[in-house]
Amino acid sequence: MKHYDVIIVGGGINGCGLIRDLALNGAKTLLIDKGDFSSQTSQGSSKMLHGGIRYLENLDFGLVKEALEEKNLWLRLTPHLCFEREFYLPLYRYSRHTPLMLQCGLFLYDFLSHFQNKPHDWLGPEAALKIMPSLDPKGLRGAGKYFDGIVDDAKLALECLYDALIEETSEALSYHEVIKTDKTQSGYEVVIKDSFSGKTFSVTCNFLVFTTGPFTDKLLPKLNIPWTPQLVPSKGIHLWLKPGTIKTDGSIVLTTKDNRVVFVIPQRDAILVGTTETPVREEIFNIQAHNEEIIYLLNILQQYFPDAQIKEDSIISTFAGVRPLAKEESSTQSLGKVSRHHKIYRPTSHSYVMIGGKYTTFRRMTQELAQEIVPRLGLRYRPNLTLNPLRQHSLMPTFGEKPKLTLSLVKKIIQSEKVKTFDDLIKRRLSIIESTEQAHQIMGIPLEEIKSLF
Ligand SMILES: Cc1cc2nc3c(=O)[nH]c(=O)nc-3n(C[C@H](O)[C@H](O)[C@H](O)COP(=O)(O)OP(=O)(O)OC[C@H]3O[C@@H](n4cnc5c(N)ncnc54)[C@H](O)[C@@H]3O)c2cc1C
Repeated sequence: MKHYDVIIVGGGINGCGLIRDLALNGAKTLLIDKGDFSSQTSQGSSKMLHGGIRYLENLDFGLVKEALEEKNLWLRLTPHLCFEREFYLPLYRYSRHTPLMLQCGLFLYDFLSHFQNKPHDWLGPEAALKIMPSLDPKGLRGAGKYFDGIVDDAKLALECLYDALIEETSEALSYHEVIKTDKTQSGYEVVIKDSFSGKTFSVTCNFLVFTTGPFTDKLLPKLNIPWTPQLVPSKGIHLWLKPGTIKTDGSIVLTTKDNRVVFVIPQRDAILVGTTETPVREEIFNIQAHNEEIIYLLNILQQYFPDAQIKEDSIISTFAGVRPLAKEESSTQSLGKVSRHHKIYRPTSHSYVMIGGKYTTFRRMTQELAQEIVPRLGLRYRPNLTLNPLRQHSLMPTFGEKPKLTLSLVKKIIQSEKVKTFDDLIKRRLSIIESTEQAHQIMGIPLEEIKSLF
């Protein structure tokens, strides 16, 4: 039976970040995921690396500062995946905040970034409308301008994984599910099922780590890991709109009348709009956006951009995710106010669970866990190793100049980037946002030829 120092269950950003940190520090690690890597929450985010300007209202300065530091780190480390963008926060006569309050908040945001953010600014109504011509001019007092990052969320997770796999001590299996765990004297025996063949096999490890995000509360009791539910799952959906649907030169942050925040982020050849924040009542693996959630976002857009003619046929595609928010001791807060802090649990002497947090702060979260595990393996933990750039980039970049897609490039991507299905290829390796049928036309390669590769 094969033995590992650590087995990580869950290959979202947290699992991929953790295997990288452990690999760089010499631990023999296996990462498994029930689906493709980064195919759940970590491809369903708002795709922002940000401090979270709205958390300033919760006086969560520590979290904002940490997230801003991480945002600025990833902008430096991965300039092919993470980009700095201007964000505009329009203020209306009915807004809860005054221009002075907003400017104080933006100053604090820059201050907490150690002034590494490009400086904020305040624009009067005319200047704001020049940049955001689709915005409703009625009652507009102006807009605050500040800087945050955008990221290809699935790709950053994948590239952390590729970086880990350069070390020979690391292995990763997608479409492999943990179905049973048994405590041994010095760790765990884990039964893993291959989702394609249905075959099972067993491996052992010293430490078993769960980075299963929103799936954690349901999974752990099935595996006999001592666990009481710790999550406040919160669903969020996004729309990709056709380019030009909303005329704007920058990203826009809308505060809705029910005091939610909706982002409008022009990217590549589409506009990203999101998100909602609702309790989850359905099966969450491969969760989808529902019609009423789509209509909710469209209504907000129609209210802020009344002349833009935004309709259902402006939508290219939709996606959804579930925030794995960690419960507070006395949590009766609205979902938007539940803290974005992470939590690490040690349900048994040889198992760990990490939930909560934000995509932006994944490196700090996984570092906290690696710092605990690595010395227990008798190895020296070196915290600075994750500050180095990622060593293997995706063959198809998300932003900027893209190589022409040819069959030989597709073959190379499938061979070198852990692709198992057509969906893995188009959604997460090629970053195509259109539906499968539309994707065929965009790729310009006969579908049969691509299908024959799987
Ligand atoms: C709508 C929305 C918007 C967001 N926007 C932002 C943002 O703009 N910026 C930001 O910083 N953060 C954002 N977040 C938060 C961020 O996306 C999450 O904190 C992060 O992606 C969680 O990653 P994870 O690795 O913990 O979970 P996941 O990515 O869900 O990974 C867990 C993995 O566990 C696997 N798994 C489950 N069960 C099993 C099993 N039995 N065996 C093996 N594997 C299993 C799943 O397949 C999955 O891949 C957003 C979240 C949502 C939902």
